[in-house]
Amino acid sequence: MSEFNLIQRYFAHLGASRAEVVLGVGDDAALVAGPGNTQLAIALDTMVEGVHFPVGTAPFELGFKALAVNLSDLAAMGAQPVWATLGLTLPEKNEQWLADFSAGMGFLASKYQLQLIGGDTTRGPLTITVQVAGSLPSGQALLRSGAKPGDLVFVSGQIGDAHLGLKQVLGALPIQVPHSVQRLHQPEPRVALGLALRGLASSCIDVSDGLLADMAHILAASGVGARIYPSLLQLSAEVKTHFALLGGWQGVLNGGDDYELCFTAPAERQSQILALADTLRLRISCIGEIVSQPGLVCLDEHDQPMAIHGAGYDHFREA
Ligand code: ADP
Ligand code: MG
Repeated sequence: MSEFNLIQRYFAHLGASRAEVVLGVGDDAALVAGPGNTQLAIALDTMVEGVHFPVGTAPFELGFKALAVNLSDLAAMGAQPVWATLGLTLPEKNEQWLADFSAGMGFLASKYQLQLIGGDTTRGPLTITVQVAGSLPSGQALLRSGAKPGDLVFVSGQIGDAHLGLKQVLGALPIQVPHSVQRLHQPEPRVALGLALRGLASSCIDVSDGLLADMAHILAASGVGARIYPSLLQLSAEVKTHFALLGGWQGVLNGGDDYELCFTAPAERQSQILALADTLRLRISCIGEIVSQPGLVCLDEHDQPMAIHGAGYDHFREA
């Protein structure tokens, strides 16, 4: 049973069915009715030492990233971050570690005007859980389920760097790639983009598990397929240099941790979206289109199908 089947079977329909819950399990965040004409988006992500980050990762980076990955889920919903709670499990009390961790998380929290309002602190293997809440006008959330045939597919920023950074951190690279390591440890949540995409995008997800895996969630939730051209993606100089070592497109399209946004929009909104990219000083690549035929097809420059398989990260995949 995959991670997703497991969630569906045991947790997707647990407890009561409450009237104020607009959206439960299955998107980047849940949506509940908030005060006035608002909704709250609520998301949670956990990072476990040895699974999500190598032993010895700097505490500033852990504090930063634990919040960043959650803000990324709010961005994918088009929500404005407001509050967070923190569950921290520590093997020992180390004040320098805590000061640095707190500084990393505090840096991002201040930047996004978010307040930490609670949490829990326990002793055990290093595990960091952050829950965030964001607010948005009712009915304007960006869902995974709104993609329509004919919509264009867009991806923000550059992908592949976090995967390359991880290779360096794990000692699998002959040379240093500081830009890519930075992208791994301190991903920039695309909050401003998410907010600007309200009313423009028809669907959205953040790219945490690999572009193909995360796009597949949009396609499944929307009941559509897609044809994409990987060659239209922006790649950093580092990823281009180490393209073969990353496993070519297979590696780049399946590498996780980039925290860019993948979204769809009707073709007539393309110029507005590209103008937005200028305003936000962020690259946005149009990489393909949504089709009614289910499935995700990658095409080369000659419109020929490429032999690429989706292999997003699944914590419970059988070996
Ligand atoms: P993301 O990658 O955007 O953080 P996940 O793949 O972790 O999303 O989760 C997919 C969906 O399943 C989300 O809506 C999440 O809230 C939900 N989910 C994951 N684990 C659980 C759980 N143990 N109980 C209830 N819902 C869960
Ligand atoms: Mg997500």
